[in-house]
Amino acid sequence: MNPEIEQFISTNRASMLSFLEELVLIQSFSRNKKGVDRVGERISSEMAGMGFSCEQKEESDLGHHVIARSPAVKDGDRQILITGHMDTVFPENSSFNWYKESENKCFGPGVADMKGGLVVGIYALKALIHTGEIRKLPVTFIFNSDEEIGSPGSRQLIREEARTARMAYVLEAGGLANSIVTGRKGNLRARLTVKGKAGHAAFAGNDKASAILELAHKTLAIEEMNAPDKGVSANVGTVSGGIGPNTVAEHAQANLDFRFPDPDTAAHVHRQLDVISGKTTVAGTTTVLDIESGRPPMPCTPEVSGMFKRIEALARDLGMPVSQELRQGVSDANIIASEGVPVIDGLGPVGAKDHSEDEFIEKASLWERSILFANILARI
Ligand SMILES: [Zn+2]
Repeated sequence: MNPEIEQFISTNRASMLSFLEELVLIQSFSRNKKGVDRVGERISSEMAGMGFSCEQKEESDLGHHVIARSPAVKDGDRQILITGHMDTVFPENSSFNWYKESENKCFGPGVADMKGGLVVGIYALKALIHTGEIRKLPVTFIFNSDEEIGSPGSRQLIREEARTARMAYVLEAGGLANSIVTGRKGNLRARLTVKGKAGHAAFAGNDKASAILELAHKTLAIEEMNAPDKGVSANVGTVSGGIGPNTVAEHAQANLDFRFPDPDTAAHVHRQLDVISGKTTVAGTTTVLDIESGRPPMPCTPEVSGMFKRIEALARDLGMPVSQELRQGVSDANIIASEGVPVIDGLGPVGAKDHSEDEFIEKASLWERSILFANILARI
């Protein structure tokens, strides 16, 4: 353990807080390109000032992604990948546009999800520049602009950088039990659109081709897929269809959400969904299945488990113990894991209430997690 890391972070507490405040006060809803780009410019100038080479992957409608590389990154290197997103879920006109601190907490849009994580990562790297340990570390840090909408623009970039990485770290917030994340379920969003035949309800026979009736059968079948013991959840979240009570419904639609813990159950869910979509119970109806988005699962592999054990021991030595969490929601760690690269997530500050105006982090965890992360990197 290098005591200089802890000293460096301790003397920089105030500047970490003011950097966090600055980032939080830049409105950066995923669809607010101008705002996300401002965060990107601020981060690029910070990283460039630290001796990192910065490039942008340009986007036309979303914010540009920033890719910052330490001097030790060489072509074909087995690099260390770090990712953090700059966007938040709060729309431009949201009244949640302020930053404040209490004695022990920081509040504001993105303090936990995940501008606090960006500050943790950047200051951990600053500490390693201070100690000189950065010289041997080939670090590529991706700051992406679109995680909260499923990373449509950055997904390919993350995949490509992951392929040359020996390991990866994602700085989403840690859980309140001082947890870090060693596994995440995958998700799938899909839509079923059923077409039937319209007619007057009063004259319809038993053979009426009601799209709503067909969708009702499919809804029951989908809900049957729920298997909490296997970690599988299936939800028909919205349904719509028909034009009035006296008309046989010609049209019906449902939006679906599925969660699964590992690649095998993911494949099983996909197969079941295909079967349900393809099976017609009400004659005369047809169904189209659209897969809208999804992230593959991030299983806790033996390699990830090994990484966690080393972090756990290190954290204990530093006097800031961590616990292990299998998190329900998805993040860019899911994309990294699908490339077979071991990844640890939840290394950002400890916080909660993401995606709500009560979002907060524990102030002290901002420096504690930064000290921990710098030590993790220094030990590689
Ligand atoms: Zn996030």
